[in-house]
Amino acid sequence: RLLNIVEFCQDLIDSLQFSIGQSHILQFTHQPTCKTLLLDEKMLWQILTNLLTNAIKYSPIGATIELDIICEMHQLTCQIRDRGMGIPPESQTRLFEPFYRAANAKQRPGTGLGLTIVKRAVDLLNGEITIDSTIGVGTTVCVTLPLIADPPPSV
Ligand code: ATP
Ligand code: MG
Repeated sequence: RLLNIVEFCQDLIDSLQFSIGQSHILQFTHQPTCKTLLLDEKMLWQILTNLLTNAIKYSPIGATIELDIICEMHQLTCQIRDRGMGIPPESQTRLFEPFYRAANAKQRPGTGLGLTIVKRAVDLLNGEITIDSTIGVGTTVCVTLPLIADPPPSV
């Protein structure tokens, strides 16, 4: 289904911001080239909601979380950046295992399934995910999804 990616991300950010109130600041940026894409809306919602929820959960109150999207001819790149607690290096290879939670998560509730679901969804869409994290500095998750086809011109 054709999806207006900018509206979609803005709506998602707005509803998440509404649900968390003032605890964190969510920011969305994109380029003017981002318009309508052929993408699975439910899968993208699942991916972004899980990643943004993690960024909120593992960042201090008042912190800013950024979602940035880059649209190219054949792929969409979504970057979720937080300045939160970061993930211990020894845990970084295990994050996609079901029920795995790193030591940094002890104080916060969770099942350890969020990233497992994200990884499966990204795989199903033939995409790629990378996590770059430094303790005490923050975490950046980058998801790249190939586009199903080029959208028709001037939609
Ligand atoms: P839930 O199933 O509710 O999402 P969860 O957040 O613990 O639980 P995942 O989303 O799968 O589980 O994340 C796995 C682990 O990776 C977390 O427990 C946490 O240790 C670490 N993690 C994930 N995202 C971040 C982040 N943005 N900053 C710091 N640690 C993170
Ligand atoms: Mg999670």
